[in-house]
Amino acid sequence: MLVITCIKQVPDTTQVKVDPVTGTLIREGVPFIMNPFDAHALEESLRLKDKYRLRVAVISMGPPNTEITLKKALAVGADEAVLLSDRVFGGADTLATSQVLAEAIKKLAQKEEVAMVICGKQTIDGDTAQVGPGIATRLGYSQLTLVDHIENVDLQAKKLKVRRKLEHRHEIVEAPLPAMISVVREINHPRYPTVPMRLMAADATVTLWDNKVMTLDEETIGLKGSATQVRKIFSPERAKGEIIGDGAKDPNEAAQLLINKLLEKNLI
Ligand SMILES: Cc1cc2nc3c(=O)[nH]c(=O)nc-3n(C[C@H](O)[C@H](O)[C@H](O)COP(=O)(O)OP(=O)(O)OC[C@H]3O[C@@H](n4cnc5c(N)ncnc54)[C@H](O)[C@@H]3O)c2cc1C
Repeated sequence: MLVITCIKQVPDTTQVKVDPVTGTLIREGVPFIMNPFDAHALEESLRLKDKYRLRVAVISMGPPNTEITLKKALAVGADEAVLLSDRVFGGADTLATSQVLAEAIKKLAQKEEVAMVICGKQTIDGDTAQVGPGIATRLGYSQLTLVDHIENVDLQAKKLKVRRKLEHRHEIVEAPLPAMISVVREINHPRYPTVPMRLMAADATVTLWDNKVMTLDEETIGLKGSATQVRKIFSPERAKGEIIGDGAKDPNEAAQLLINKLLEKNLI
């Protein structure tokens, strides 16, 4: 039985700049990393592998260099890696991304029964948290988001029990398999690859599925299959703060200046 982990390669966001003319991200020379939440998704898949003898497949849709990130997943113990890469997959919004990923999962499920798909809660670049639920909806899988603990997996009864981390409370939920779960950071601490595993993974094969393999209708994928279009990317501008009284030393004077300012703006 298979547990599939969805991994997105993302720019190391602290270093990403936006082209002021085109408004698009400048990707040249930017280091890429595995989306941090997906590292936790992968770790949880590997723990399920150890506990329930599941096989772990990792999939990613992205440019050819995503192979490097998938090899890192193989280095920590994933059994199989599939890269979905084709020009026609490019420019996808979350609708078109989840379409390609769901179709790839269907394709893997033809060879081996899928118990679970594990995604990160969200990415650190797109940040929408829509792709996991999009995949689950398309596949008709149970959908359990914000999971911070897997309580139990019963492969015989095809049931899963998880704990979801909500605001100010937790929720224990049981659902039938197959299921898509999306995980939060608190679920685990990702392992590091050993040197021998890293060396082995460097020579491992990442399977490439382009659209010749996937044979998806081009109207449903990439830019054409995207219901949304990005008009502009920009950092929100905030009005500069004002130092009232130019840093008045006397606290009473400073307080009076503040009161005057608030009165002036009809705020008190
Ligand atoms: C309106 C809009 C337009 C866009 N246009 C473009 C564009 O023109 N070009 C472009 O490159 N990008 C574009 N994007 C970004 C693109 O949609 C996202 O990169 C992609 O759909 C994933 O969404 P996300 O990053 O918000 O993932 P989230 O939904 O936050 O991710 C949740 C989880 O889903 C899984 N996941 C997400 N993406 C992938 C993936 N690619 N492979 C494997 N697993 C994945 C991971 O497990 C991840 O943790 C656009 C996004 C939006 C919202």
